[in-house]
Amino acid sequence: MEPRTLALFPFLPEVSAYLKQSGVTLDSIISEPAYERARDLGSKRIMEAFLDKEIKENPMVSEVDHLFEMLSYIVARMIVSSTGDEMLIIHYSQAEALSMSNRLLDQDMDFVHEVASSLDINVSLESADNMRIHFTDYLRLSSPMRSKEWALIDQELDAGFLLLDKKKICRLMQQALKDKISSELPLPVNDEIIETFRPTIENVKIEIEKKKEEFKKEGFGRISFIRLPPCMKIMLNALKDGKNLPHVGRFALTAFLNTIGMDTEGILALYATSPDFNVNLARYQVEHITGSSSGIEYLPQSCHTMVSQGICFEPDSLCNKDWMTHPLSYYKIKGKPRDKDKDKSKNTGNPKGAGNPKGAGNPKGADNPKGADNPKGADNPKGADNPKGAGNPKGADNPKGAGKDKKDEDGESQQDEKDQISEKD
Ligand code: SF4
Repeated sequence: MEPRTLALFPFLPEVSAYLKQSGVTLDSIISEPAYERARDLGSKRIMEAFLDKEIKENPMVSEVDHLFEMLSYIVARMIVSSTGDEMLIIHYSQAEALSMSNRLLDQDMDFVHEVASSLDINVSLESADNMRIHFTDYLRLSSPMRSKEWALIDQELDAGFLLLDKKKICRLMQQALKDKISSELPLPVNDEIIETFRPTIENVKIEIEKKKEEFKKEGFGRISFIRLPPCMKIMLNALKDGKNLPHVGRFALTAFLNTIGMDTEGILALYATSPDFNVNLARYQVEHITGSSSGIEYLPQSCHTMVSQGICFEPDSLCNKDWMTHPLSYYKIKGKPRDKDKDKSKNTGNPKGAGNPKGAGNPKGADNPKGADNPKGADNPKGADNPKGAGNPKGADNPKGAGKDKKDEDGESQQDEKDQISEKD
């Protein structure tokens, strides 16, 4: 394979052989002045991945340029691993995967086929424009894509294979590379690596903190039960009904509630209805996720991760929009005033469109949405007790009958301010 091709697709297995042949070792990359440019390019690669969401193509005119470009991929992985930050791993793997997908569109199908095989995708070349993919790989890689065009039922199956065009194959390969990179990271790193890349690690950490702050500053306003995405509603209701949640569910719910503004005590109180509640253990876990004990505040997982963890419960029509990739996006969108509300607020002189609409009822899903009492994979963690006063955080565990509702255009309930399960401090 040409060195330029390896430089553009540095995750390919052939890169290792090329570097070995070139006499490059890990030690030399870290310590030798001759590889300073590779270290700089690796740092640049990380910052681009995090800030621009894509790895830009650097000008390459010589074999040395190709070599440094390949090394920049190795350096970038070392830096990401040194931070150990889950958010950075996700951003980085997404950016590498998107860059590969875009670059592949300019390549011929033979090469696309070769790369797909290297990613362990069961494909066969059909023509210059199409490829066949086995339905099991199709299902595995298309599971995060929720738009109708990816539904298996709408695809033609022939002896277990589907015929796809280049664009769709590249999109699935993007998913495969993202999964591969994020599963490989973080790599084990030693003190020498951390010391070498300390300035970049510090810069990246500053950017990550800025991003987390931006998330917070965007503001989620008052916490509202009706704005919660189905996954969170169902997990909350499971708790309310005295069910335990699997570890991944507790993590997702805690990180989500913390990000939208619920304090530690409020979150703890929600868990107090679990049959095996242990206040010390629960406090330790919640404070670890919210960062009050660990110093690292975790953000809630994306929809894709939630799907892969089996905790994307009953996605609705809003979830099925192509652009819906995160439970926080769902919550934000639900909080936006609808056009008719804006019109109403103009007429009534209420600029925020707030108020207390007439009409009572029990909002859909507010007290016991379908499946809420038995979320998939709910487990039964050890240790239980039930501390005094822990069961009723500002009405959070009792959305039933919490207020009056009206239906929105999606047929879902809109409740008034009484539905707030808590308020931001
Ligand atoms: S699609 Fe996303 S927001 Fe909707 S239920 Fe699944 S994880 Fe939650």
